[in-house]
Amino acid sequence: MTIPRWLPVYHNRSAWRTIQGISFMQAGRRVDTGFGQLTRHLDDLPRPARHLLPLSRYRALGFPISLITSRGCPNRCIFCLGRRMVGPKVRYKSVSKIVDEIEDLVSQGFDIINIADDLFTADKKRVKAICRAIIDRDIRFIWSAFVRVDTLSEEILQHMKQAGCASVAFGVESGNPEMLKRIKKGITVEQARQAALLCRKADIRPHASFIVGLPGETAETLNDSLALVREMDIEYGFHFLSPFPGTVVREHAAAYDLEILSDDWSRYDANSAVVRTSHLSPSDMESFVQRAYQPIVDAWAALTRRVADGRGTAEERRQSENVDRLNLIYAILSNDLIEQNGGGYSGASEAELIDRLSRRVAEETAHPFDLVRYYIREWVNKKYLTVYPDQGEIGWARP
Ligand code: SF4
Repeated sequence: MTIPRWLPVYHNRSAWRTIQGISFMQAGRRVDTGFGQLTRHLDDLPRPARHLLPLSRYRALGFPISLITSRGCPNRCIFCLGRRMVGPKVRYKSVSKIVDEIEDLVSQGFDIINIADDLFTADKKRVKAICRAIIDRDIRFIWSAFVRVDTLSEEILQHMKQAGCASVAFGVESGNPEMLKRIKKGITVEQARQAALLCRKADIRPHASFIVGLPGETAETLNDSLALVREMDIEYGFHFLSPFPGTVVREHAAAYDLEILSDDWSRYDANSAVVRTSHLSPSDMESFVQRAYQPIVDAWAALTRRVADGRGTAEERRQSENVDRLNLIYAILSNDLIEQNGGGYSGASEAELIDRLSRRVAEETAHPFDLVRYYIREWVNKKYLTVYPDQGEIGWARP
């Protein structure tokens, strides 16, 4: 909505100030023209131009594809940037448009979808209608969504499960009741416990996310979070606070026990401690996170030892192989190994092309040749890779 208004005055910089929703530098100073209008009717937006992305690479990675069915969140968590970007009023796509898009994605071979809404379960009636439509159209796929613990119920989770939902992620943020009030999360520790129980009952995997470095954080508040994780016996993530511009914690940092130590935005990725409180330094926070993850690190080391010794269960072998597979695929994708090694084999048959590419990739990634060839053959069979024997080349399939 902003760009079509801005393009006609692109060559007339003095008119840029009249275009709402942009920021630019002028005479060494930043000029903000204020917030642009939010799109009110999401159905008016075209679908994301996914065909312009290298979809075969995404498919090879095997990660879920994202879908957005609504924008906005009415809650007021003081650390949240998402809410500031999408606004407090929730705006929805219509159920039929959502399910059409899902059907389309599944027909293109994407059978794992992540619903990346800020709060998918904001409106229970709508969630039920989406689930009903998925079931009625018999669309078979696995999906996950972001939810809030206070929006879940046995009934809604059952609908979600019947429609293929395998997991949900929710922010608990802290296991300390006072902290939950301070950050205006609007939930209680008891609601978090109940949410995990309800998910298990519905056979949906719950994942709880916590923040480290909240205003006034102490060793005790962090220990409360860790104790809650252990009690809930749940998959979890601990993420460092990233006090982005626009968040209440940053704009009113002085009112909280919080000192922001860095404006290096590359460190605002939730993996770096960029704040301190009067009780905790960044290194205290890092030590805590290391301690929180230690059981996972130890369990994984024990599992890989069992698998290496031939004592692992079938499930443990599957998990270990899956990590090996991901490491290999990640190495191939992040170094563009198909693009760099897929050509220059003129006169070779399809089988020879696959063998030669596999050998080069095996050398560059230090993975066994047989394993690399297994995945490259699989990608060819699934049509993620296309073989061009005439040109002596293998490349990612194009839409
Ligand atoms: S953290 Fe979640 S619930 Fe809170 S404001 Fe942000 S999107 Fe809404």
